[in-house]
Parts: sequence; structure tokens; C-alpha cells
Amino acid sequence: SSFAHFGFDEQLMHQIRKSEYTQPTPIQCQGVPVALSGRDMIGIAKTGSGKTAAFIWPMLIHIMDQKELEPGDGPIAVIVCPTRELCQQIHAECKRFGKAYNLRSVAVYGGGSMWEQAKALQEGAEIVVCTPGRLIDHVKKKATNLQRVSYLVFDEADRMFDMGFEYQVRSIASHVRPDRQSTYEANEDVTQIVEILHSGPSKWNWLTR
Ligand code: AMP
Repeated sequence: SSFAHFGFDEQLMHQIRKSEYTQPTPIQCQGVPVALSGRDMIGIAKTGSGKTAAFIWPMLIHIMDQKELEPGDGPIAVIVCPTRELCQQIHAECKRFGKAYNLRSVAVYGGGSMWEQAKALQEGAEIVVCTPGRLIDHVKKKATNLQRVSYLVFDEADRMFDMGFEYQVRSIASHVRPDRQSTYEANEDVTQIVEILHSGPSKWNWLTR
């Protein structure tokens, strides 16, 4: 398969060519059309498979559509992942491809400066890449809000559960509009986790609406 099959516009293709990607990886061939169609996606893939770009490209297109419909502040896409390193890697890819449409990404993770992250959030970004606990801290402090989020990604969802972030991850899932587009990425079977995160019971809420 080739990138031409995705029907990306010239601005995005320019960034892809600049990255020197010659052809899409198997997970990109399978996942991109699913996500572009607006459906939820479960991706089981290892690091190195190109799974990050598989959700970032459709996410950028979703953001551009949504931005016109719903002006305002707060991110349109949120990517939740287990570690600071992963957060920084995903953020770097968001910035690289987000350049196609002048979209801004902010990374918020535990261990980084609360103040600097809050400042970046308040300056505005369509994309927030985060570790779960730190995003909740920022929402509680009103440095950002999840009202406009309509594309939600859980990367390495199984690992987040293994690492004990279930409560935080469930909280985030329950605070984003239920008609959002969701993507779940994991190394192993993630079916149970998807069921949990899609149910969204209110007992996981940490804010009053
Ligand atoms: P990931 O599996 O998302 O962690 O990606 C692993 C690496 O592959 C990253 O450094 C990406 O920049 C790179 N990559 C992603 N898609 C492609 C592609 N289609 N062709 C070549 N490299 C890619």
C-alpha cells in the first residue's frame, strides 16, 4: 500500500515526505482508514510498528474539522500514556505532523514543572499529550478543561492499568463527552479495558459538572 490511498492533503503529505517515510507500515495501512472514517479503534501493536502516527494523522484531520464547528479553548484531542518518555516522544510526533496545519501540542507529565506546563496549557493547544495523574491535577487547578475534547487516545492502555493508573484513566474517560472518537493502543489484548473505559460510570468522576 502507499500513502496515496489515505487521501491526505498536500500539507500533511509534505510533512510525511520530510520525515522520509516511503510507505505506510502495516498498522498504518489497517488503522488509518478506520480512524479516518470516524470509528473507534483498538490497535494491538508493538513499539516500532508506527502505531503513533497511525492515530496522529487521522487525529489531525479530525481536529481541523472540529475546530471550525466548535471554537473555544481547551484541547480537541487528548492522548493519555503511561510514562514521561512516551509522552515526550508522542508530543514530538504531534508537533512534527501538526505543523501541517499549525496545530499546537503541549506535553504534561509527572515530574515536569507544574507551573511551566500550566502556562503552556493556558497559551492554548489543540493537542494535549499527558500522563493520567498530571492531566487530572491540571484540570483540577483549571489550567485546562476537557469540555471540547472529542478525540481521546489511550496509548499503552494495558500498561497504564498494570502500573496502577486505573482510577485516573477511568476518571479521564468519564469526563470526556461520550460521543467522542476513541483509540485504544496496547501490547496485549485490551478488550476488558475497552469495556471498562467505554462504560464511564459517574462514580469515577472527580469534578462536579
Ligand atoms: P512507533 O511504533 O509509533 O513508536 O514508531 C516507531 C518509529 O517509526 C518512530 O520513530 C516513527 O517516526 C517511525 N515511523 C512511523 N511510521 C513510519 C513509516 N511509515 N515509515 C518509516 N518510519 C516510520
